[in-house]
Amino acid sequence: MYYTNGNYEAFARPRKPQGVGEKQAWLVGGGLASLAAAAFLVRDAQMDGSRIHILEDSGLPGGACDGLLRPDVGFVIRGGREMENHYECLWDLFRSVPSLEVEDASVLDEFYWLNHDDPNYSKNRATLKQGASADTKNRFELSDEAALELMRLFFTPDEALYDKTIDDVPCMMPYVTAFFMPRAAGDRPDVIPEGCVNFAFLGQFAETPRDTIFTTEYSVRTAMEAVYTLLGIERGVPEVYASVYDVRCLLNAAHYLLDGRRLTEMKLPLPYKMALHAGLEKLRGTTLDELLVRYELV
Ligand SMILES: Cc1cc2nc3c(=O)[nH]c(=O)nc-3n(C[C@H](O)[C@H](O)[C@H](O)COP(=O)(O)OP(=O)(O)OC[C@H]3O[C@@H](n4cnc5c(N)ncnc54)[C@H](O)[C@@H]3O)c2cc1C
Repeated sequence: MYYTNGNYEAFARPRKPQGVGEKQAWLVGGGLASLAAAAFLVRDAQMDGSRIHILEDSGLPGGACDGLLRPDVGFVIRGGREMENHYECLWDLFRSVPSLEVEDASVLDEFYWLNHDDPNYSKNRATLKQGASADTKNRFELSDEAALELMRLFFTPDEALYDKTIDDVPCMMPYVTAFFMPRAAGDRPDVIPEGCVNFAFLGQFAETPRDTIFTTEYSVRTAMEAVYTLLGIERGVPEVYASVYDVRCLLNAAHYLLDGRRLTEMKLPLPYKMALHAGLEKLRGTTLDELLVRYELV
């Protein structure tokens, strides 16, 4: 299995791997990860559906995305799910799931059209009384210290965050679920543990590089990685969106963290301020300087 980026492989159709006709797949749990794995087995490994078995303990299918059947509206996910445009593996899956309602359309088409006509997007930072805007004027209003701390996180390598808890890093999320318990390197098994040729872990409690848990994307990504590795699928898994390597994304994030203020307007300790001014002076006339202007940071 390898990662890929861009359109060349996004539209490639892998050929049927050798021996797939003699194999069977047993998936424990009927959540999104297993369902995605089944879909990739059928679409990319061209495994016959009758060879795929899903074992679910609960009476309600769909796991955390419970497929609650309401006769008046169909299958619904309680509470809904936020999804963003760089859920690379999830959209790759949804493009192949046919719409139940629109002929020749996929679930991705439906999702995209719906979001076009009724954009599900808000800069509202907080709500009161279960839905009323807290009128935060679309601003974060972070202290300069907090904004700086978050910006420092942009450049912190993953390894430096191992063994940290949400009490150690700036975070507004409470311990909502087991996903947020303190963790250390190696406490989740790899998707394919070393040496395994017919066994994989799927979902939130398996380890895959660079992605962030607690998302539908993570479950679908681990499923895709498992199927592509175990069956030797001749197509790359879309890599996690490369925002951390794109200076434009980082500058744009800094712009929002500062609520549109310039870097030079931050109240910083004198040595930081002097270093910032010296740095900006050095950058003058460079491409980076142009980008700082474009993102209204200077
Ligand atoms: C409250 C909440 C809000 C969320 N919000 C978002 C969001 O906004 N955006 C987003 O992208 N993601 C969100 N997520 C995350 C996303 O919904 C989940 O990560 C994803 O659905 C998990 O899928 P999964 O298949 O990995 O695991 P699960 O959905 O947990 O599926 C595991 C399944 O395995 C079954 N099972 C367990 N043990 C056994 C056993 N021994 N034998 C047989 N069956 C077993 C369980 O019953 C379950 O059906 C949210 C999750 C929650 C809980």
